[in-house]
Amino acid sequence: MPRRAIVPRLRATELELEHVACDLCGADATRERYKKPDTGQWTSDYEFPVVECLRCGLVYVNPRPTPAGMAPFYANDYHGGRADEVHQRRYARQERYLPPLTNQSILDVGCARGDFLAFLLARHPGLRAVGCDAYSPGVADPRIEFHARALPDCGLPEASFDLVTSWAVFEHLHAPSRSFAEVARVLKPGGRFVFLVTNAESLWSSRAFGEDVPRHTYHYSHRSLRAYAEKHGLGVRRLVCDDRLFDGRGKGTFRWKLLRATGVGFAADSARDLRPGQRLARTAGKLVDGLVFALSWEAWLGRSGMLIAEFEKPEHA
Ligand SMILES: [Zn+2]
Repeated sequence: MPRRAIVPRLRATELELEHVACDLCGADATRERYKKPDTGQWTSDYEFPVVECLRCGLVYVNPRPTPAGMAPFYANDYHGGRADEVHQRRYARQERYLPPLTNQSILDVGCARGDFLAFLLARHPGLRAVGCDAYSPGVADPRIEFHARALPDCGLPEASFDLVTSWAVFEHLHAPSRSFAEVARVLKPGGRFVFLVTNAESLWSSRAFGEDVPRHTYHYSHRSLRAYAEKHGLGVRRLVCDDRLFDGRGKGTFRWKLLRATGVGFAADSARDLRPGQRLARTAGKLVDGLVFALSWEAWLGRSGMLIAEFEKPEHA
């Protein structure tokens, strides 16, 4: 069960919301995909619309909390406890997506407490490690140069990194284009950008409602990532689905199909406020989910909820 927020629930009138145009193409014509409240922490009952840009297909939360208005949605220690064994295994899997490491200069965007950089430094002491995170209280490892700011505000020198990484961070940004542009600027020619984001075109995202709304402000796809790379002058080396870092299987698709068919919404489901028929629908849905999504067949087909991208800055930009 997710931990409940300590702060009292915000009413819709207390939310600081903003309408935004598409971050990728600038258009503001959208269609609504679905609405979802903060089922992760129930900071508010407000159902945030998740919309799709009619011009370029980018999926995002709109309206959404302003940058300042988002603070209550991160009230718990959102970055704590990432040094344990489960995370160490994840870091080892993440490293397999990186080029062979020796003494490169590496930047981790949204590094939280710096645990992934510390993991890399323990294995490759010659690395120069830099991390930034606007919401982290700081990093413990003194070898890491840490900036308590969002990437575009760090003022890092141009063409100074061989490698930039970012894991489950870009879906949290308020202006991804600013960060993609900054990554392109700070990478050396030939440098790589390796990152993980959620996939809006997966069952996990669109049918099982797996996105952590409203904290996941942008939900990407193969198409939108290719468009971001092109917009910022980066090449796409690979785009793959992998469920071994975070689970992006479509579990929840059938549960929600049956819950909705029997008139159950997010609040009633969360409170388990269900009639017998609805409880039966929930159990049946979970059973089917367990069978259909037992294996990672979606990742093998390139359609699951977690996308890992590798971009490259051209040698001669
Ligand atoms: Zn667009």
